[in-house]
Amino acid sequence: MKSIHCVKLGSLTDPDESKRGRVATLEIPEDPVGAEDVKIKVAYCSICGSDPHNIEGAFGNTPPFGLGHEVSGVIVELGERATRKGLKLGDRVAGNFLRFCGTCYYCRNGQEQFCEHADESNRPGFSEYLVWHESQVFKLPDEVTLKQGCLTEPTSVIVRFMDKIAPKIGMRVLVSGGGPIGLLAIQALKMMGATALTVSEPIEERRQLAKRFGADFLIDPVREDVYAAAMRITDGLGYDVVLDVSGARSAAPMLPRITAKGGILCLSAMFPNDYDLPLNLYTYCYRNELTITGTYISPYAFPRAMQLLPRMDLEPFTSVVYGIDESEAAFEAQVSGKHVKILVLCNADLADK
Ligand SMILES: [Zn+2]
Ligand SMILES: [Zn+2]
Repeated sequence: MKSIHCVKLGSLTDPDESKRGRVATLEIPEDPVGAEDVKIKVAYCSICGSDPHNIEGAFGNTPPFGLGHEVSGVIVELGERATRKGLKLGDRVAGNFLRFCGTCYYCRNGQEQFCEHADESNRPGFSEYLVWHESQVFKLPDEVTLKQGCLTEPTSVIVRFMDKIAPKIGMRVLVSGGGPIGLLAIQALKMMGATALTVSEPIEERRQLAKRFGADFLIDPVREDVYAAAMRITDGLGYDVVLDVSGARSAAPMLPRITAKGGILCLSAMFPNDYDLPLNLYTYCYRNELTITGTYISPYAFPRAMQLLPRMDLEPFTSVVYGIDESEAAFEAQVSGKHVKILVLCNADLADK
């Protein structure tokens, strides 16, 4: 079967072509279906902001390795014991690319996100077929299309944010970064009653999408003084919650300054792994009592992500689609930053009408 792999490590935007990372559509064997497994014929897999980081080597993988974790598809085979959730052949599904072992210390301690064996089942989503354990698979609501369904995993990230920040109605919130995760977060924060909801994002089209999704204020961090704008919007108090989904070195040092006293600073993007944030502990931890946290993967979030999907405006995320044979063009388009989200159609006969 066809599957998109990273075949050479490196930045996809490296001006030196000999150092540039490369993806290719390879022919690989299908995985066997175990007794508790579900075989999915993949419809769509969307490109995640972390996929180019993976190609740069951020997760320590050695090429060739498979890519993709934001998947929707249709069940084509069920193991004889994969019957505990009522999944049926032909069900339209999405799910979690990670299988938590349920046995290690963290899984037994309510902290699945640190599962010591989660990676063992990680299989490439940009593939014609995918075999997942039953526990990873969730049936899509009837009103959600397969195109929208591949956004279940990004939506689970938003559910995780909400668990982490435990929002209070009326809280003032700034989202740093208007990529797909930031834009989904804006929608959910609006539902949760955020006020002075602000996005800081350099790309105009993304700021306009944030506005469409409910942002009250838009900041262009390149042209505007972010601190001055934040103080103006919050009457000099700062935001109760600041959520960073930009992963930008240029954005990070400002974030503690615009977080209100007693507020939460949630740094959820993948920053470069050699980046250290300078932080004045006297001011921000002692005097201002900030809670500084982050999120890694999304434990206990998928059932609620499924329930949330029909309430999300996903239309702007599903308009750019490449075929599984167009891997290079799809990733080129991803790193161009021109599109908010890019989908890969892995089986043409499953295209949404
Ligand atoms: Zn992702
Ligand atoms: Zn575990």
